[in-house]
Amino acid sequence: MTRKLEGQKALVTGASSGIGKAIAIEMGRAGADVVINYLSGDDKANQLAGEISQSFQVKAIAHKADVSRDSEVQAMFERMRAELGRIDILVNNAGLQKDAAFDEMTLEQWNTVIGVNLTGQFLCAREAIRSFKRQGILEQISRAMGKIVCISSVHEVIPWAGHVNYAASKGGVMMMMKSVAQEVAHLRIRVNSICPGAIRTPINHEAWETAGAYETLMKLVPYKRIGEPEDIARAAIWLASDDSDYVTGVSLFVDGGMLLYPGFESGG
Ligand code: NAD
Repeated sequence: MTRKLEGQKALVTGASSGIGKAIAIEMGRAGADVVINYLSGDDKANQLAGEISQSFQVKAIAHKADVSRDSEVQAMFERMRAELGRIDILVNNAGLQKDAAFDEMTLEQWNTVIGVNLTGQFLCAREAIRSFKRQGILEQISRAMGKIVCISSVHEVIPWAGHVNYAASKGGVMMMMKSVAQEVAHLRIRVNSICPGAIRTPINHEAWETAGAYETLMKLVPYKRIGEPEDIARAAIWLASDDSDYVTGVSLFVDGGMLLYPGFESGG
């Protein structure tokens, strides 16, 4: 891959595992300096930062912060501005599940998932847009004033029994992303989402780690393989680069066809 993001500064939330980790690595490979936000596990995050900076000769900083807390998000962006000078790309990736049958779901389970998956994306996107507006466009590195990539899910449109808080959070991400995209397009700020299908990460390990579970999962995937974090990372690099300069307000489904109603594969 060419260094399409040379000189740009990217922040990836929830970047010490799974999809976020793969995106942080690809950002470095594409030439961007990168802030690796993480919630826990200092050693793992610092090791990843070291590997990225060594492999790709970019700056990589691990920064611990809970994206659902305003003060921690503010402090993270302040550090990024102090150490890297600016921000060009935000990848809103941090997310979690707290599954329960709807009538057994606690308010805490509801609030935690909405707080991280939706409010966390709001807090980071708001801070990124404030920074983009202060900085202005730097034509040498990008045609856009800034780029935001939200990691949503196929569950922004597919209802999900037993995971109502999660599906509601991702449905919220969809309308937040599109409304913000509409509001800031005239500034040349691009805001898009990637909607992963089933990707092999810790969040859903019980859906793929045994042969039986994998077989059941494949009934939902027309392309008949699980997605890998790198499938999402490559799409994120495209959405962050000028290759997608005319793309904003879009939900890009990277899902092996999960949205193709596989139950109707044989005619229904
Ligand atoms: P993951 O559990 O490996 O990654 C989620 C990361 O977010 C973790 O590193 C976690 O520590 C971090 N995080 C959680 N709460 C946080 C907080 N308050 N502040 C900062 N970081 C926090 O799982 P993943 O699959 O890589 O998930 C990444 C994103 O992809 C999530 O938004 C998830 O909803 C989305 N997604 C995943 C799949 C999939 O199949 N794996 C499918 C659709 C969408």
